Amino acid sequence: MIRHSKLDPKAISILEDKIQLITTSKGAIYLVGPIRLPVNLYGETVMFNWYCWMNCDEVTKDYEKIIEKLSSVNTAEYQQSSVLVYGDFEQGEDAYIRLHSICHTGDIFGSKRCDCGFQLKQSMKMIAEHGTGALFYLANHEGRGIGLFSKAMAYVLQENGYDTVEANISLGFVDDARNYSDAISVLKALRSKPVTLITNNPKKLEALKKAGLEVSDRKPLWGDVSEYNEKYLQTKINKAGHIEPCDNCPE
Ligand SMILES: [Zn+2]
Repeated sequence: MIRHSKLDPKAISILEDKIQLITTSKGAIYLVGPIRLPVNLYGETVMFNWYCWMNCDEVTKDYEKIIEKLSSVNTAEYQQSSVLVYGDFEQGEDAYIRLHSICHTGDIFGSKRCDCGFQLKQSMKMIAEHGTGALFYLANHEGRGIGLFSKAMAYVLQENGYDTVEANISLGFVDDARNYSDAISVLKALRSKPVTLITNNPKKLEALKKAGLEVSDRKPLWGDVSEYNEKYLQTKINKAGHIEPCDNCPE
């Protein structure tokens, strides 16, 4: 394939206005957006604003340089994460936040071995109904950060009597390898006011508070329990310290 020697200057000037540089301890996060994204949510069209981000060692405001790089590298390997924003996220008084770890099987195929697909749609609905919020979709968090191939192997072990935590550990991984620092950097770039976190996981609460974010409340998110994920959900409570649902919980 013959590459154009020069990028289209008009396209570059349009894109430059839509790219933000966020510097981190490891380099840079480039955030592109907002992009209007009408979403089919339980049969209704809901308008979100979509942003996508990419990590890069190179820190520059010369975005043309970064755009030029994209066509020559395997961008899929960067595993770009993104965020779906609803309402006035910068200024709104209270905003709901969901840090959603990618789940290929649950989110895309609708697998009932876990509750991820349900949590994804339900948290988008909670954010839209609340009026302001953001769903962070974390693309490097597959299988709690061990990757898709490793998760498939962990599933094989689970079919042979291991629970989620035992399976990860016997493959040489820590139980939970997820890191929220990139999402927190992006969140801080988009909003400085307090947030309400949609989660059952106290580790996510801790990560946000440690990063100096003001978390005013937590909303639990349980549902879609079936014979296929009962054991998985119980392991989350018993071993991963998730907060158990109660009769008074709204969700
Ligand atoms: Zn899942």
